[in-house]
Amino acid sequence: MWNTFRVRCGQEEKMYVVVICIKLLLQACIDKAGEISRWLMRLVALSKYEIIEWRRERVTSSDGTQERGVVPTSVNYHFTRQCNYKCGFCFHTAKSSFVLPLEEAKRGLKLLKAAGMEKINFSGGEPFLVNRGEFLGKLVQYCKQNLKLASVSVVSNGSRITEKWFKNYGKDLDILAISCDSFEEDTNRLIGRGQGTKNHIENLLKVRNWCKDYQVAFKINSVINRFNVDEDMNEQIRMINPIRWKVFQCLLIEGENAGEEALRHAETFIISSKDFQRFLDRHKEIKCLVPESNEKMRDSYLILDEYMRFLDCTQGRKDPSKSILDVGVENAIKFSGFDEKMFFKRGGKYTWSKADMRLEW
Ligand code: SF4
Repeated sequence: MWNTFRVRCGQEEKMYVVVICIKLLLQACIDKAGEISRWLMRLVALSKYEIIEWRRERVTSSDGTQERGVVPTSVNYHFTRQCNYKCGFCFHTAKSSFVLPLEEAKRGLKLLKAAGMEKINFSGGEPFLVNRGEFLGKLVQYCKQNLKLASVSVVSNGSRITEKWFKNYGKDLDILAISCDSFEEDTNRLIGRGQGTKNHIENLLKVRNWCKDYQVAFKINSVINRFNVDEDMNEQIRMINPIRWKVFQCLLIEGENAGEEALRHAETFIISSKDFQRFLDRHKEIKCLVPESNEKMRDSYLILDEYMRFLDCTQGRKDPSKSILDVGVENAIKFSGFDEKMFFKRGGKYTWSKADMRLEW
């Protein structure tokens, strides 16, 4: 009987150990799930890139040379250069006040869609300034409802957005990114992120709540520079809980924020890669942080200016192609300087449609 009792206890202990092990394993899996899914996404994106490359290499033109056309999967259209803020490092400055007529902008977007565009990001300048946000709203609506793009996003400083805009256009917008470099108003003022007595952080929080109410995924973009590099933003970012926190290393672009012709002079804002890494290390527990060093950032974006010309940044300045409205996407994109491999490597392709994000609103 004693022996039977010991055997039973031994079996129970073993069962207990097995259950604990399974529990720990499950916990570890849950903890790592986010990380693993991000890695898988990147792996899928890179494989997709390799397949596109392989297909391209099989296509040869009549003279036997290889055709290596770039697909404009994700495009950033800076339709205005005008802005109400004066950020000292701004790298898309108000060098012109030109904005295309709405129908011309739509024609260009249709050409991009035909060339393979899946995601459009509207940016500036401040995109909500043109016709009090109506121009932007119409483009957002057109891209979602007519072109049926998987993802439509906007980058804004957040100061001119109204609830009425969300009511009219929110359902067609997947992601709204608000630029915020500091949670200390004095630092924002020092940087130039602000206008008059308006409080940038209060605006940010107001817009964040509207995003929740009108079901738009919320993102934050921060440029790390000499004035915010020592700041600890962990608490505020956790509280705001954006779907993505893009953290850029301040970048110099000749003719925009550096050099004689430039409207801004950001030399005093620049930080070293080591300092940038220090900032990233301080925020390494934030899961949604997406870092972008100068190297990752410079050529991995397809940028269209207000005339719908691709801007080539490979020489450290923005050299424009001809407009896609005049020569078509395929001809213009050859002069974009776009590094497609780096685009996939930096995780440029991610879950960018709000329908796929499974967000709790
Ligand atoms: S808010 Fe953006 S576009 Fe406006 S000045 Fe600042 S960086 Fe430039």
